[in-house]
Amino acid sequence: MQGQLDMEGALTARDRVGIQDFVLLDETTEAAFLSNLKKRFSKDLIYTYIGTLLVSVNPYKELDIYNKKQMDIYMGVNFFELPPHIYALADNAYHTMLTEFNNHFILISGESGAGKTEASKKILQYYAVSCPSTTLLNTVRDKMLMSNPVLEAFGNAKTLKNDNSSRFGKYMDIQFDSQGDAVGGHILNYLLEKSRVVHQNHGERNFHIFYQLVEGGSDDLLHQLGLERGCQHYNYLTQGQCPIVPSINDKNDWKTVKNALQIISFDETATNHLFEVIASVLHLGNVRFDSDSKGHALLNNNTELHWVSNLLGVDAHRLQEGLTFRKIEAKKDQVLSPFTTDHAIYARDALAKAIYGQTFTWLVNRINESMENEDPSRKTVIGLLDIYGFEVFYVNSFEQFCINYCNEKLQQLFIELTLKSEQEEYEAEGIEWEPVQFFNNKIICDLIEEKHTGIISLLDEECLRPGDATDLTFLERLEEKMGNHPHFVTHKLADKMTRKTLERGDFRLLHYAGEVTYCVLMCQSKNDIVKECFSSMDPDSRRRPETVVTQFKSSLQKLTEILVAKEAWYIRCLKSNESKQSGQFDEALIRHQVKYLGLMEHLRVRRAGFAYRRKYDVFLKRYKPLCPATWPHWRGVAADGVEVLVQHLGYLPDEYKMGRTKIFIRHPRTLFATEDAYEKC
Ligand code: ADP
Ligand code: MG
Repeated sequence: MQGQLDMEGALTARDRVGIQDFVLLDETTEAAFLSNLKKRFSKDLIYTYIGTLLVSVNPYKELDIYNKKQMDIYMGVNFFELPPHIYALADNAYHTMLTEFNNHFILISGESGAGKTEASKKILQYYAVSCPSTTLLNTVRDKMLMSNPVLEAFGNAKTLKNDNSSRFGKYMDIQFDSQGDAVGGHILNYLLEKSRVVHQNHGERNFHIFYQLVEGGSDDLLHQLGLERGCQHYNYLTQGQCPIVPSINDKNDWKTVKNALQIISFDETATNHLFEVIASVLHLGNVRFDSDSKGHALLNNNTELHWVSNLLGVDAHRLQEGLTFRKIEAKKDQVLSPFTTDHAIYARDALAKAIYGQTFTWLVNRINESMENEDPSRKTVIGLLDIYGFEVFYVNSFEQFCINYCNEKLQQLFIELTLKSEQEEYEAEGIEWEPVQFFNNKIICDLIEEKHTGIISLLDEECLRPGDATDLTFLERLEEKMGNHPHFVTHKLADKMTRKTLERGDFRLLHYAGEVTYCVLMCQSKNDIVKECFSSMDPDSRRRPETVVTQFKSSLQKLTEILVAKEAWYIRCLKSNESKQSGQFDEALIRHQVKYLGLMEHLRVRRAGFAYRRKYDVFLKRYKPLCPATWPHWRGVAADGVEVLVQHLGYLPDEYKMGRTKIFIRHPRTLFATEDAYEKC
């Protein structure tokens, strides 16, 4: 009877909440994985470990697990001793940093809407609230926290995937002194999706800040900026036809942003300047052109143009000239050649995007200045990487190409680091290692970025080739060079391979996370080159200008270098359903993510040979009550104590190996039985 009760007791715990660490699953099948995830999700347990990797499933509802009380519970507690939580991971990274005095980064990945940005905010809050503090440093912390609402206002927007989708990549270093005080922060931003400023797909919005300004700004402010209240007045705000979003309160968010700007030490002048620029973009969007009898662009009405010129402090006449004429340098003279209306609209939009992009960069610089660490000696950092997730839309263009390329790179880094560190650990501990088969996405990274032969190189060549390069000539070149690549599909091959046809001018890549059809990359990257690269070029330099995509490639290269020098922690965010509903666990959708994020392979690697490893002292400390010889004290080296302990528990010789500093346990059930025994004792 007693035995039966015990059995039931043990079973209920597992049955009730599933297993906290996938490594302890009896079988490593996808079905078992999903069933455990689902069981936990149904109990609002959104976090599960794979060893030290944290899997998180977006609950799409507020859970009462992010408060000071929870933070206190997790502070300084051993990783596996409490239910999985993002605080546990944050805390573990923090304490490892303090004891080993090294740098760390937390890579948060998952597709758009999976919960990456929320996760990064929770971590930042954890550090801001629970690390030791002095009043002096509180201001740095407040600034770090407040950088979030500001950057979200300017860099996030409603998309079909996520009402608060990050449209830029962000890497933030949180700097700590040797006492563990957060003393400073620094943000690197990646490729803002500027095209959104002038165009939004159906059901999507422009960046939040525009709506906040025209909905929340005071009458005085709007008057001063020449704006009308309400987004319906602005072309740049209404193309997606969804200015009102139930989950967004622009008026309240406006207040939050204004307040946050103050905390980040934006004075009146800087704040005004910022909103003048934002307003000028809205006015630009309302600048219209008519065409004269020759088809040349004429300004329809001067009012909007004058507002732009006032707000930006540029000469109205020159502005008008710039929007309606092309300047051609002929010998020593300048000749003005009139634009068609299409060209004028194109020039107007290019200007709006450039203004917004520059403003965003300026904003990040200002925030960085305000969070700067006053005493940079002896500091260690924890880097938080929250970068746009893999995304597939109905129409995918240049931006999606960059976003998905970035995701390929990060997946590559993950593969290298997890495989490598695992191998190194076995080696360091003197344990034999059995390799596990992985899908290595290096082949796709190479296809995109390889020197001279990759897509980026070809794009560069075409963009910088004087003369008649077009999207179609670019595609022809792609086809010629990549035609046989297993991850590249052109319309010639599309029917055969995937049975889905491609439009003329499209090409398709088979990414690690799924296939994506891209259209017209070139025209968009070309446009930005003109604006950004040539203009920023030193006129005397003979250097070949870089295209936007090449700049992006090298910034990702630098990011990789920043990351590999640090100890890695991973959070894999899963999207529970496509309709942003709480309580819905879309099994097919989640299975797909589990697959491409490589979670099963990661799990298998963790279990290959040895599912579990623990430092001798940690293992002994936890399980010593299970053996009379180790309880209450073991007076010898920890490794010997562990040996005595596991002999007493009846571990078979094949079940475990003693490494140099850790015990390695082959089957999870062995540790599970030990854990069960511990819970009962
Ligand atoms: P991503 O950055 O991966 O695109 P977000 O972090 O912006 O996704 O999350 C999208 C939305 O999902 C959030 O606005 C929020 O409504 C919800 N969400 C994400 N994570 C959580 C969480 N831990 N708890 C509650 N809701 C969440
Ligand atoms: Mg995000």
